[in-house]
Amino acid sequence: MGKKSTRAVPRERIDYTQLLAELQAGSAAADSLVTAPVSTEDHQALSRFRQRLMSDEHILYFYSGSGGEVHDKTCPRTREILDQNLRWSKTYPNHLPQCSLCWMKAYLRLGARDLFRNSDYESLFAEMGMTSKLLRRMYVHKGMQTEIIGSDRLKIRCREDTWLLEAVPGTRYLRLFHNNYQANADGSRTFTSGYHEQAVCACAKYAVKVIAGYTYAGHQAALAQRQEISAVYFYEP
Ligand SMILES: [Zn+2]
Repeated sequence: MGKKSTRAVPRERIDYTQLLAELQAGSAAADSLVTAPVSTEDHQALSRFRQRLMSDEHILYFYSGSGGEVHDKTCPRTREILDQNLRWSKTYPNHLPQCSLCWMKAYLRLGARDLFRNSDYESLFAEMGMTSKLLRRMYVHKGMQTEIIGSDRLKIRCREDTWLLEAVPGTRYLRLFHNNYQANADGSRTFTSGYHEQAVCACAKYAVKVIAGYTYAGHQAALAQRQEISAVYFYEP
């Protein structure tokens, strides 16, 4: 076995002080790039034209005349639209796609009676599995109005009915309650206080489907059909 030769590598004495100083200077320069004003445009005061639009409480949405997406009026991306291209709307322009940054605020602005609780909505919708597609259906297409009751219940008004939706703790299910009412002989209803349980829903999509699809006339017709079926079933001559 040959003797393994080892060779001592001479240790170079390098002075890193200069390199370190350069790196630190570089990193300081990079930090200042991040923290310094990015451009004068970002810090430019809003034009008077835009200030007027912002302060008009009836104006809810902005979009660009050259095409693009709907923005909530407070969306930072609206700064990318030049004043001369800026269009505004008092209603939701549902022929346009929704911006992916401000969708929740934009939909809530349409139907939340308590818009100031938007951070509570964020956590409640996440818990309930409400997607942007579902919120669009609720607020834009079906005109539903909502309000958070306490911290974990969502009150939803759709046409003349009111519903309560809550997540069942420890499960992925939702519990849906419907307003109480008294059925009148003439086919009308008198709303009374409180709610009754309507359904335990497997998902938010089903809950929204039940709420959106409910009409009292439809409910009565379904009830009558069920009674007819059971009458036939139990008929004994
Ligand atoms: Zn936006």
